Amino acid sequence: EASLHLEVRAARLGSRYVLVLADDRTESYRLEETRRDFIANISHELKTPIGAITLLAEALESASDDEAQVRRFAQQMGTEAARLSQITREIIELSRLQATDVLASADRIELDSIVSTAVDHNHVIAKAHDIELAVGGSKRVTVVGDEALLTLALNNLIANAIQYSPDGSRIGIGVHHDAGIAEIAVTDQGIGIPEADLTRVFERFFRVDQARSRNTGGTGLGLSIVKHVVQNHGGDIRAWSQVGHGSTFTIRLPEAPSAVATQGERR
Ligand code: ADP
Repeated sequence: EASLHLEVRAARLGSRYVLVLADDRTESYRLEETRRDFIANISHELKTPIGAITLLAEALESASDDEAQVRRFAQQMGTEAARLSQITREIIELSRLQATDVLASADRIELDSIVSTAVDHNHVIAKAHDIELAVGGSKRVTVVGDEALLTLALNNLIANAIQYSPDGSRIGIGVHHDAGIAEIAVTDQGIGIPEADLTRVFERFFRVDQARSRNTGGTGLGLSIVKHVVQNHGGDIRAWSQVGHGSTFTIRLPEAPSAVATQGERR
């Protein structure tokens, strides 16, 4: 048990001063625990496909006469290797995002272009499941940041919406802006997320009961990547959900300054 160590800090928030009661020792204890969990989770996640590949390699050695079996083992090895490479890619991406909050690029980005790229990425898989990707909302909402990262974040949200939705359903992707805040909302008619898990889905490796989804190939890293990308852009992400009815994930980002100034002319 960590003992409580309270520190009083005065922080300036806008024009008001607020008093912050910071529990520093518990915070560092919690961070250390999170870091240990992360490493334990990484080893576990990597061990599974590596173990499978090792077993399949052994099986291949003793199955050399049976061509069909050899092909099957080889295919399974390919699947496991692909999973290993996906997990590795996501872990590297996440570590990179966590290591710094400085963005590699700070370009002006129209959210429309991010939405259409992310929709294009998911077009084939959506079509295979007869899922409609319906884009709507405001035009020419501009933010400042890293286009590749923001596209990756939206891509993860859309891919999740597809993965956790029934065939033939609809996914809405809406762009809005209000009072200097740009917003992208992804709404699905999928299986939903129990209220108790709603904040936990942003934790690394957290997955709601795996048996629920159409495909259990997830890593549990997608939403923590989204959260870090959004936070590195000075924004936030929220989720609403109703089990059996669907979910909405909303990314909010500061709107690019001059876009706010010229907002009236553009409409
Ligand atoms: P995964 O790779 O498992 O999808 P994520 O970090 O992207 O990992 O999501 C964490 C968990 O949150 C998922 O395993 C799933 O249980 C739940 N989840 C995410 N998005 C949705 C959604 N749109 N509808 C229902 N459940 C979702």
